[in-house]
Amino acid sequence: MNPPSHQPAVARTVADAWARFDVVHAGPGGLNAFLAQDRSARALGTGEGPPRPLDGVPVAIKDNLATLGLPTTCGSRLLEGYVSPYEATAVRRLREAGAVIVGKTNLDEFGMGSTTEFSAFGPTRNPLDRERVPGGSSGGSAAAVAAGVVPVALGSETGGSVRQPAAWCGVVGLKPTYGRVSRYGLVAYASSLDHVGVFGATVADAARGLQAIAGEDPADATSLTTPVADYPAAVASAWATSGGSDQAPLAGVVVGRPREYFPEGLDPRLADCCERALARLRDLGATVRDVTLPHTALAIPAYYIIAPAEASSNLARYDGVRYGRRAPAEALRPMYERTRAQFGPEVTRRILLGTYVLSAGYYDAYYRQAQRARAAIASDFARLFAQGVQLLFTPTAPTTAPRLGALTDPYSMYLGDCFTVPANLAGIPAVSLPVGRVEGLPVGGQLMAAHGEEARLLRIAACLERALGAEAHQ
Ligand code: GLN
Repeated sequence: MNPPSHQPAVARTVADAWARFDVVHAGPGGLNAFLAQDRSARALGTGEGPPRPLDGVPVAIKDNLATLGLPTTCGSRLLEGYVSPYEATAVRRLREAGAVIVGKTNLDEFGMGSTTEFSAFGPTRNPLDRERVPGGSSGGSAAAVAAGVVPVALGSETGGSVRQPAAWCGVVGLKPTYGRVSRYGLVAYASSLDHVGVFGATVADAARGLQAIAGEDPADATSLTTPVADYPAAVASAWATSGGSDQAPLAGVVVGRPREYFPEGLDPRLADCCERALARLRDLGATVRDVTLPHTALAIPAYYIIAPAEASSNLARYDGVRYGRRAPAEALRPMYERTRAQFGPEVTRRILLGTYVLSAGYYDAYYRQAQRARAAIASDFARLFAQGVQLLFTPTAPTTAPRLGALTDPYSMYLGDCFTVPANLAGIPAVSLPVGRVEGLPVGGQLMAAHGEEARLLRIAACLERALGAEAHQ
C-alpha cells in the first residue's frame, strides 16, 4: 500500500518544516503564510504509550482557531496580540493525536474574503506564483501546505474558504459535513455555515487530519453524534483496489455532473481539466450522469445575505469592553466607535449589510427569502442523492488564482464563490483536489457527497487522485 507516486515534496518532520519555512517565508516576497510560529513546539508526551496517528507531524492552524500559547488574531487589528485562555477542540485533538502545532496561518479578517488580501497583516502570496493570491480566506494554510512546510493544516469554511484556496494552490482541501468537527474555539463568522476544514498535501493527509479532529463534542451543541468512520482506511482501500487487480474500483458508483456548474462562459481550459477528471472517473468504472441543481443561481444571493446577517450579530462582541483592542476615548460611545473603526473595509461592509438585511421592514424581504432559497438549494442536493447519485463532480472555482490586487470589486469577488457556497448552505461534505493546470496555475476539481459520507468522498477522491497521477499537476 503506497501513497500516490506523484506526491509533492512536503516536510514530514518538524525539523524539515522549519528548514522549508526559512526558505519560503522570510523577507520581501516571502509567502507571509504564517502570523505566528512556535519554534519550541514538540509532540505532547512523546515516547509514552502506543504510537499515535500524527506523532511528530508538523501542522499549521488558521489563525481563527483558538490556541493556547500562541495569539489568535483572526487577521484583525481588533484582536492583535490576543491570546485565548482556552483551545479549540480541533486543535486539542490534533495535539492529542501527536501533531506538533508549528504556527498560526494568515487569513482574510475574520474569514471574510477570497484572497487573503483582507488580512490586517498583509497578504499571503501563492507559492506557485508569488505575484498571485493563494485564495482565501484560509490562504495561509493553503500556502503552507503548497510550499511543503506542513503536510496537514486546519482551515475554516463558511463559503469555500478551504476548498477555493486548496484549488488555487494545488493541494487538497476538505470541508466535512456540518457538525462533523466541533466548532468550539473556532471564532464565529456565520455560525450556521461555519465548519472546520482540513488541508492536505494529498487526500490521505486530509483524511488523517480529519480522523484526528472529527467527532462529537459536548462543548458544541451542533456537533454530530453519529459515529466517525475510518477515513484513512477508506483512502487506503482506494489505493489497494485502484493499484491492484480490480480494474473498476468505482463500479456501481454514480457521479452527477450538474449542468449549472459548467456554464457556457466557463473558461474552456478549466472545463477541459474537469472533463479529463470525469473521464478518469469513468475509466475507474463510475457512471457519469448529467444532472441539474435548479436553484444553484440563488446560492450567491442567499449566502451574501445569511452570512453577513449572522456576522453582524457574531461580531457585535468586539466592542472594546470584553473583546477587542480598546481604542482610547474620553467616553463610552466614542470608545465603541473608535474600537470598531479598527475593522477593515470588508468586515465593515459585511456588518453594515448584515445589519441592514436584519432590520425591521427588510427582514422579510431579504433574510426570510434567503432562508427559503437556502432550503431549496439543500433540497436540490437531497433529491439527487435520494435518486441514487452518490457524488457530484464540479470545478471548485470558476477561475485560477488572480494576481495580487486584481480582484478589487467586492461583487466579482463574491461571484467567485458560486461553486463552493452551495455545500455550505446545505451542510454537505465536499473536497477539492488538483485536476490540472491552466498556464501553470492549478485547477481544482470538487467532489460533493450526501451528509455524513466523508469516507465515500475520500475514497473516491483518492481513486481519482491516483488515476490522474502527474496529470493533476499538468
Ligand atoms: N469568500 C467567502 C466570504 O467571503 C467565504 C469565506 C469563508 O468561507 N470563510 O464569505
